[in-house]
Amino acid sequence: MELHSSTLLAVVFGMFLLLLFLVLAIVIFRAVLRRPSSSPPLIPTEDGHYEVAGKRVSCSHCHGSRFQTKEILLNTWLLSLLRIDWLDSSAIVLTCQECGQLTWFAQDE
Ligand SMILES: [Zn+2]
Repeated sequence: MELHSSTLLAVVFGMFLLLLFLVLAIVIFRAVLRRPSSSPPLIPTEDGHYEVAGKRVSCSHCHGSRFQTKEILLNTWLLSLLRIDWLDSSAIVLTCQECGQLTWFAQDE
């Protein structure tokens, strides 16, 4: 049996449409089912510290209160497989400037 190039092109195009549909379904699914904000926000204070739920954040190891912040993606296998992991949720990570311990805070969008 000989495979025609037009048949192969139709199969590739169909797979592309299927992948596109899957990506759109994931985006819509995540947007519809997104839960309302439940985690308290991380608030930088004027003196260079951070507060969560009304309490100043301190390092659980050295009790330091100076941090560097970075937003980290919480990757899931499906979105990583599809190479659209930028759609995943994220967290704010505080890195203690004294000892380097990482403290994670969920970040609702
Ligand atoms: Zn520390």
